[in-house]
Amino acid sequence: MRYTLFGQTGHRVSALGFGAMNLPGVPLQQAGDALNYALDHGINYIDTAAGYRNSEEIIGETISHRRSEYFLATKTNKRDYASAKEEIERSLVRLKTDVIDLLQIHYVNYVSEFKAAMEENGAYKAALEMKKAGKVRFIGITGHRPELLTKWISKGEFDQVLFHLNLAQPFALNELIPKLTEMGMGKVAMKPLSGGFIQPVDKAIRYPYSQDVNVIISGMVSIDEVKENLAAMEQEVGQVERQELEELALQLGTHNCRRCNYCSCPVDVKIPDIMISSKIRDVFGLLPKGEGFFEKQKDSIMSCADYEPCKEKPLCEQQCPYHLPMQKVVQEAASYYS
Ligand code: SF4
Ligand code: SF4
Repeated sequence: MRYTLFGQTGHRVSALGFGAMNLPGVPLQQAGDALNYALDHGINYIDTAAGYRNSEEIIGETISHRRSEYFLATKTNKRDYASAKEEIERSLVRLKTDVIDLLQIHYVNYVSEFKAAMEENGAYKAALEMKKAGKVRFIGITGHRPELLTKWISKGEFDQVLFHLNLAQPFALNELIPKLTEMGMGKVAMKPLSGGFIQPVDKAIRYPYSQDVNVIISGMVSIDEVKENLAAMEQEVGQVERQELEELALQLGTHNCRRCNYCSCPVDVKIPDIMISSKIRDVFGLLPKGEGFFEKQKDSIMSCADYEPCKEKPLCEQQCPYHLPMQKVVQEAASYYS
């Protein structure tokens, strides 16, 4: 596995990062075994968030005795100073550590949210204060809109960005990743399987691995999953394979959905999941999680065509900053069931 210098932090981080988001869904013993196995096999970047149920506590419980072996990244999705500070302090306790290596302002997709976090009494001030106190070492930001992130980092207030990069969402390649490289910042790609939709898993992992990023965060919950992810990174990606993966990403990314979640649907169609997975389903089929999702969504997807208020002008499309044809894609998805 590849190790690279992580922005200006001085750390050499493993290309595979352990995404701890789903650990709360498995027994503690299994979670601890997966985390310890990952550390034993060279993974040295652990990613969690205050908002991932008790994920931070699981990390604290199972690997804090090995704290010097991993770079620890967590997140706050609070926007104001007081609640962000309280949440960061809680993270330190839950993670059983004296210092968080990377504190990210989490899930910033709206201009108004960015402004709130950065204003005088915003979450950024809390992160900065904790940094001055030696409780946080670096500050990052996470979001789903690469073109906005590119603008937001230009003042040099952040050390790192966490963004989507997978076969169905190659959008960060356009301007965000080149800008991060130019500024010498840490580059972390998330959701290589787009939340459990993309297969084959090895291709899904090797696509971001073929690109200019430091760490690929993959959500893992078992030793077998760690092994599968590690195996996909055993060999470097050569020129021919890189080109094939890039062509595939162009094809699978034509839906153009950034998963920004600006859209909402009155009949509860999970629009970004449909947008992103429809092409993958056509080309490769889906992982079991994706198939289960389509089963659960059947009634909502089927009701889209008859939903009266959307007949003239689809409500979702009026909310999308990219003006995407979501109604058409959802109604095409309905044909999967026939
Ligand atoms: S067009 Fe369909 S998916 Fe869009 S808001 Fe209306 S019912 Fe929901
Ligand atoms: S369909 Fe549009 S609004 Fe909805 S998540 Fe995708 S890009 Fe965002």
